[in-house]
Amino acid sequence: MPEIYKNYINGEWVESSGEKYENRNPANWDEVIGIFQKSTKEDAIAAVEAAQRAYERWRLFPAPKRAEIIFKAAQMLVERKETFARDETREMGKILPETRGDVQEAIDMSFFIAGEGRRLYGFTTPSELPLKFQMSVRIPMGVAAIITPWNFPMAIPSWKIVPALVAGNTVVFKPATDTPLSAYNFVKTLIDAGIPKGVVNLVTGSGAVVGESLIAHPHVKVISFTGSSEVGKRIGSKGASLFKKVSLEMGGKNAQIVMEDANLELAVDGAVWGGFGTTGQRCTATSRIVVHKKVYKEFLDRFVERVKALKIGNGIDPSTDVGPLINEAQMNKVLSYIEIGKKEGAKMLIGGFRLTGGDYDKGWFIAPTIFADVDQNMRIAQEEIFGPVVSVIPADSLEEAIEIVNNSKYGLSSSIYTNDVKNAFLAIRDIYTGITYVNAPTIGAEVHLPFGGVNQTGNGHREGGNTVIDIFSEWKSVYIDFSGRLQRAQIDTDKIVKKE
Ligand code: NAD
Repeated sequence: MPEIYKNYINGEWVESSGEKYENRNPANWDEVIGIFQKSTKEDAIAAVEAAQRAYERWRLFPAPKRAEIIFKAAQMLVERKETFARDETREMGKILPETRGDVQEAIDMSFFIAGEGRRLYGFTTPSELPLKFQMSVRIPMGVAAIITPWNFPMAIPSWKIVPALVAGNTVVFKPATDTPLSAYNFVKTLIDAGIPKGVVNLVTGSGAVVGESLIAHPHVKVISFTGSSEVGKRIGSKGASLFKKVSLEMGGKNAQIVMEDANLELAVDGAVWGGFGTTGQRCTATSRIVVHKKVYKEFLDRFVERVKALKIGNGIDPSTDVGPLINEAQMNKVLSYIEIGKKEGAKMLIGGFRLTGGDYDKGWFIAPTIFADVDQNMRIAQEEIFGPVVSVIPADSLEEAIEIVNNSKYGLSSSIYTNDVKNAFLAIRDIYTGITYVNAPTIGAEVHLPFGGVNQTGNGHREGGNTVIDIFSEWKSVYIDFSGRLQRAQIDTDKIVKKE
C-alpha cells in the first residue's frame, strides 16, 4: 500500500477535506510512489491564514537567526541527498546524476542565501541638509505564495522559499502536481531544521484550485511563479489587478550558435547535453542550434552520430542517458510537434517516434529527435516543445545567427561556440537573453548569479544571486533629522549653501 502524504499547515500534517491523487513513476506507470492531497480552496485559505499569523513573529526574529535554520537545513540536505535524488528520479524521470544535481542546487542555494541573513544590505547616503541622516533598509512583505513546476522539483522551490524566509516572509508552497514528493522532502527538511510553526506551509493539488486561491487571497503579498508562459500570463494579470508583487519565470526557446571557427567536438558535446539533458524538459534546454554554413554538414554528421549512441530508459539505471517524458500528455504534445515539424518540411535526421516494447511500454519515452534545415520561422523553431527535439538552422554569418537567436518571443538562455574572442563579445553584446554562455551549452546556471529571462520568459525579476532578495522584500527609505528644526528638502538647501 503506497504511503499517504498530507499537507503541512500551521505546524501540523493534515489531510485535505478534498480527494486524494496518485503520484506515479513516468518510467514505470505501474509504480505508485505515493498518495497526495488534492487540496481544496479551504486548505489554501487555512494555509495563508496560518502563514499570516506566523508572519507577525517570524518578521521580528533576527535575520541571522532565520538564516541559521536555513544553514542547518542545507547541512541536512547534504545528508539526505542520495535518498532525495532517488525519490526525484522515481517521480519525475530525470537520470540520477541530474537529480543529484537538482538536490545539490537546493543545497548550494541554501548555503548561499544563509549568508544573506548577515547581509540583507541597505545603503546610507549623505543628506542635502545638515544634521540629517538617511539610509535605506529592506523590509519583509508578509505571506509569499510559491508556485513551481515539476522539472526541477527541489531546486526551483529552494530558489524561492529560502530567500523568502531569510528576508522575513512566511510561505505557502504549492508544488507541481507531478512532483509532490520532492516538495514534501524539502519541506520536511526545513521543519526538521527548526522552522517554526506556520512559517512554511505545504498545500498540494491543482493550479486551478490551490494556485488560484493563493493568488486571490488578500494576505498574499508576493507571488513567485515558475512555469509556462500561458499560466504565467494569467497569474501576472490577476496579480496585477490585485496590486500584488508577482515574479514570473517562464518558457524558453534557447539557441546555441556554432561558428565556423568553433571546436566542433566541444560544440557537439554542448548540443547533446543542452538538447537532450533532462529529456529536453528544461526551461534552458537547447532547442535551436544555429550553425555556420561552413561547418553545417560536419556538425550535423557528428551530432547525429552522438545522439544515435544515447541510451533511453529508466533514469534509475546508471547506464541510462535520457529518461522519460514527465507524463502521457507531455509525450503526446512532443509527438504532435514532431508531426508539425515534418509537415513544415524540416528534415528529420534521427528519432521522431515513441519507444515501445518491453519496459518502454510502461512509460513515456520518445527517441531523441533532430530536425535539420529548419527555417527560423517554423513552429518547431518558435514554440516551446519541452521535450527531446532539437531544430538545427543554417546561417551565413554571425550577424545572421544572432538575428535568428533573437527572433523569438522568449529570451532565457543562449550560447555561442567560437574560438574568436570578437565573436564571443559581439554575441554577449547583441543577443537579447537573460543568460549567455560562451563555449558551454545553454544549460548550467549557478545559484549565485542572477537567473531569469527577457521577453515572454520573465517579467523583469531575477532569481538567484542577491537579486532574488529584491523579489521578497520592499525597500524603505529612512530620513532622520537631528537638527531640532524644520528643514525642507529642495527648498532650504539654497539658503544653507549660501549661509555656510
Ligand atoms: P505549468 O505552467 O503548467 O505549471 C506550473 C505551476 O503552476 C504548477 O504548480 C501548476 O499546478 C500551477 N498552475 C497551473 N495553472 C495555474 C493557475 N491557473 N493558477 C495558479 N497556478 C497554476 O508549467 P509546468 O508544465 O509545470 O512546467 C513547465 C514550464 O515551466 C515550461 O514552460 C518551462 O519552460 C517552465 N519553466 C521555466 C523556468 C524558468 O526559470 N524560466 C524553469 C523551469 C520551468
